[in-house]
Amino acid sequence: MDFPFENSYANLPERLYTKLAPTPVKTPKLIAYNTALAADLNIKGAPEAAVFAGNIIPEMADPLAQVYAGHQFGHWNPQLGDGRAILLGEVAGHDVQLKGSGPTPYSRMGDGRAWLGPVLREYVVSEFMHAAGVPTTRALAAVTTGETVLRETPLPGAILTRVAASHIRVGTFQYFASRTDAPASQALVDHCIARHYPDAYGPQGLLDAVVQAQATLIAKWMSLGFIHGVMNTDNCAISGETIDYGPCAFMDAYHPETKFSSIDQFGRYAYNNQPDIAAWNLAQLATSLLQLMPDRDAAIESFTESVNSFILAFQKAYGAIFMSKIGISEVQEGDMALVTDLLDRMAANQADFTNTFRGLSEGNARDQFVDPTAFDGWADGWTTRIASEPDPQAVMRAANPAIIPRNHRIEEMIQAAVAGDYAPFEQLNTALATPYTLDQRHHDLTTPPTEQEIVHQTFCGT
Ligand code: AMP
Ligand code: MG
Repeated sequence: MDFPFENSYANLPERLYTKLAPTPVKTPKLIAYNTALAADLNIKGAPEAAVFAGNIIPEMADPLAQVYAGHQFGHWNPQLGDGRAILLGEVAGHDVQLKGSGPTPYSRMGDGRAWLGPVLREYVVSEFMHAAGVPTTRALAAVTTGETVLRETPLPGAILTRVAASHIRVGTFQYFASRTDAPASQALVDHCIARHYPDAYGPQGLLDAVVQAQATLIAKWMSLGFIHGVMNTDNCAISGETIDYGPCAFMDAYHPETKFSSIDQFGRYAYNNQPDIAAWNLAQLATSLLQLMPDRDAAIESFTESVNSFILAFQKAYGAIFMSKIGISEVQEGDMALVTDLLDRMAANQADFTNTFRGLSEGNARDQFVDPTAFDGWADGWTTRIASEPDPQAVMRAANPAIIPRNHRIEEMIQAAVAGDYAPFEQLNTALATPYTLDQRHHDLTTPPTEQEIVHQTFCGT
């Protein structure tokens, strides 16, 4: 295979990473390859399992593990890093990283490996997010390793090749702030601006840009009923992409306090907390950038203003998307009340989030409500309101996916794959590639789980 690697991160000061190669695995087998993404990245040649397993290092790669720190569930952890991932280099400005590629100096107690379940989950969900128009890391390839990974039980090992605008996190800045290493911080600022925000100037410009990027990102998550599940500062990307599909999940029945992650005891990362948590993470970024500002008091003031602007930017983005979700393109006073009223009624009626919104353009939204008259009470005012809209049906169909990666389908897909059957994985990928147009062949993927099928908890599943 031919990867036109550049290695701009490897050329940053050495204390930002440790150079090392992946640990080879026993019998690599390719289980998925994203041909379209490979073409976008100018990667040439037939896919080789040995490359995506880390057994063969492409010629121009300069492999390394990045160091970072972070707040995990609000608790400061001064030393994290790629504990089971190796950055091979950048192609077309994008990081190519093997995840599950063996131990590194940052592995702590971990084995540096991943098992098949989370690898396939990340593959499917991240590619869906991309298809749905959400900034996200991508999946280029997946391989099985022929090795067993020990979790609660022995499980098949796998490696995901992840592509990202970069893997630089809020936690990367926190690491160098906590060590009062201003030169490293400055190098990171310059690097991030060059790669992600070429119009930004200095730490203030970078902060402002990240605030905006995170505001639109979280609004898009909310519009899909997406719950990230582990919004630690080390999982908050400077690029504004969704990163780290661990215990993430999509809501079936709408409730604002929904959470899935088994380790999120207090609902810190519940659906409706996500905007506040993003703002909290941005405040950590702002704090980390202070050491670069000669006039600290003035910087505290302007950084605070920037972080505080997050909620307004989020509300603006959220409002625009949810207006589209109910078919409104020319916003009038009072329109947002229609959205909140609908959501309140959905919550009281266990209405399926995806199917209710999609149902608005298909004429079956009321079927999603335990008490359909609760929908009728809302629909009267809404129907009158959208009568003056030019093409509400088209607006809604473009804003409300017909199909999402439902948790019970993901679990089913993983179980099948562990048993050697990749057909459900293929079907999910195919169906989710065009989430706004449903091919009737995939109709079974649109139905909410039955009582027995409901997934109540997700696990980090490392
Ligand atoms: P995450 O919860 O996936 O964001 O991971 C948090 C930290 O734990 C990161 O620094 C990971 O690199 C590390 N980590 C997670 N799983 C493993 C593993 N199996 N082996 C080594 N490090 C791991
Ligand atoms: Mg992580």
